[in-house]
Amino acid sequence: MKQRIAVVGAGFSGAVIAYRLAQAGHGVDVFEARRHLAGNCHTERDPQSGVLLHRYGPHIFHTADERVWRFVNQFAEFMPFVNRVKAVARGRVFTLPINLLTINQFFGRTFSPEEARRFIGSIADTSIENPRTFEEQALAFVGKDLYETFLEGYTLKQWGRHPSQLPASVLKRLPLRFNYDDNYYSHPYQGIPREGYTHIVEKLLDHAGIRVHLETSFTQADRKGFSHLFYSGPIDAWFDDAEGRLAYRTLDFETLRAEGDLQGTAVINYCDPEVPWTRISEHKHFAPWESHERTVAFKEFSRVCEAGDIPYYPIPLVAEQAQLQRYLDLARAEQGMTFLGRLGTYRYLDMDVTIKEALEVADRFLGACPA
Ligand code: UDP
Repeated sequence: MKQRIAVVGAGFSGAVIAYRLAQAGHGVDVFEARRHLAGNCHTERDPQSGVLLHRYGPHIFHTADERVWRFVNQFAEFMPFVNRVKAVARGRVFTLPINLLTINQFFGRTFSPEEARRFIGSIADTSIENPRTFEEQALAFVGKDLYETFLEGYTLKQWGRHPSQLPASVLKRLPLRFNYDDNYYSHPYQGIPREGYTHIVEKLLDHAGIRVHLETSFTQADRKGFSHLFYSGPIDAWFDDAEGRLAYRTLDFETLRAEGDLQGTAVINYCDPEVPWTRISEHKHFAPWESHERTVAFKEFSRVCEAGDIPYYPIPLVAEQAQLQRYLDLARAEQGMTFLGRLGTYRYLDMDVTIKEALEVADRFLGACPA
């Protein structure tokens, strides 16, 4: 039977759910507190330069999931893009993720893959058998010198916590390569949508069965009249911070403008702890198929997310899992409501996982409640 369903948040989670439910014949109202679609994936053309800006920082789509890749390609032309990140550390420029060139440059050597593997094995801390923290994982993985140069300072700036307080899972996002492959990601599919991410979300929500309410917050009282609520906002905010506020990081961006080329590539990380920013992204390099005379770059600063700031990153602190668990228990006890997405489930999710999970949530819901 056709239902009236509310979706809170017009990022990828909310948009994918709304699309699937509307396709199946349900009526969907999407409530988005901000004045634009696509959440932190939002892209828009800069009126001054014509460059497509990733408003909330760089988003490169990458996945190993066939279903997700097929799904997103229905709504956009994905242009081939390989993320090749550079790192400035201790007055020199290196290539990331740590690969054979990084190792050879850093140690002033000409190692072959096998020699590098043996060398890193000899400097890595082999006494750490089951790394639990980011720091333990890094020391066991690459040893003290590379950890201190590329990982410790950057992580301190990014998370505001020492790597000894963060779980090993954060570092496991980064590959370590004993060849010259400097692709930041290891997934078989990678690209950037030609017209940006907001364009995809617009298409997902462009359906007669979907009404979008921008600049509209949604509270407990607004649930009346809806048979189900899909919520992709911050999980703690839904419960009025009843268990205390969960820790998030927010980002500040300083905009740099110039003629020509500012830094010669899309992303440069700044790993030294004394440099206050974490990275600089120059957005025209995310679209090498376009050409622009002027250029725009964002210098990115990470800090504690206060009330009123936009939450970007849930902080996966080893010590705060109990508080999160209490929120997850509250969420499970809610009737007729599903929490999803990076903020709704308080997990460090990439776009592809967010979409995959939203598709699966929709599958389960439609299996139980076909229109
Ligand atoms: N990281 C680091 N140095 C770098 C890049 C990343 O120490 O130059 C660490 C940092 O803790 C970061 C994590 O690795 O949060 C994951 O990096 P990723 O590039 O996936 O972060 P994101 O792009 O999601 O901010």
